[in-house]
Amino acid sequence: LGVPAVEALQNADVAAMLPRPGGESDKYRRGVVGIVAGSDRYPGAAVLAVSGAIRGGAGAVRYVGGGGAAVLARHPETLVSTGSPHAAGRVQAWVVGPGLGDSAAARTAVEEVLASDVPVLVDADGLRLMSRDAVLARNAATVLTPHAGEAAALLGRPREAVEASRLDAVRALAGAYGATVLLKGSTTLVASPSALEPVRVNPTGTAWLATAGSGDVLSGLAGSLLAAALPAADAASAAAYLHGLAARLTPPPLTALDVATTLPSAWPL
Ligand code: AMP
Ligand code: MG
Repeated sequence: LGVPAVEALQNADVAAMLPRPGGESDKYRRGVVGIVAGSDRYPGAAVLAVSGAIRGGAGAVRYVGGGGAAVLARHPETLVSTGSPHAAGRVQAWVVGPGLGDSAAARTAVEEVLASDVPVLVDADGLRLMSRDAVLARNAATVLTPHAGEAAALLGRPREAVEASRLDAVRALAGAYGATVLLKGSTTLVASPSALEPVRVNPTGTAWLATAGSGDVLSGLAGSLLAAALPAADAASAAAYLHGLAARLTPPPLTALDVATTLPSAWPL
């Protein structure tokens, strides 16, 4: 049909997508991103998701959950609260799921966030807790960020089948959920809900990213770009690009927190 099936992300394209504060900017206009992540079992996920978000260009980061003390110890800029995401104050985008666990409270938080009228990124435990109907009923963008195993569970296919046809898997998920889908792996793919849009292929990254918590940094980063009003496919693909580039700029063996710390060096000037 004349539309290429895939397109490689280029540095200049990503540079043009990124938010840049101007004279009229204030922290609210730059966007506030809300992070619902972490649990007693995985407290570090809260810190990692916030560390990605804080380097993503939003004007402020709100964290909602039990990990506020750990988040503040690392990132005193964060606005923290406990309880319901609804009560946390206005945000322009939500990230829900990293290290969230599968408690009743976690499920309720996922439902609440999906019921909001702002863009939502769902990752990790959030992908297991969300219902497809809740995603389809949304009236703002949804971004799903599975790795191959999570994509396999969502599609009801074996993991090997997803690995063997990643392009088909990312397209099938985007169609089934009416969402932008970022399929993680050695090459990260981003598909839009419309089948007419080419799938974007991220050329950055390194196998050193196969380390605990690196996905949590990516979800915070992408959520921050959503809050800064980037379209969903741009937020997801720019996040994958910067995350991979930051990892390449970090001396190995890198940690997830190293990648977040290096993000400013990956940001095109
Ligand atoms: P997660 O599986 O949620 O921890 O996310 C892992 C992150 O590391 C994602 O951004 C993946 O794309 C990236 N990653 C994992 N394995 C590789 C690999 N072999 N080469 C490049 N990137 C990888
Ligand atoms: Mg993950």
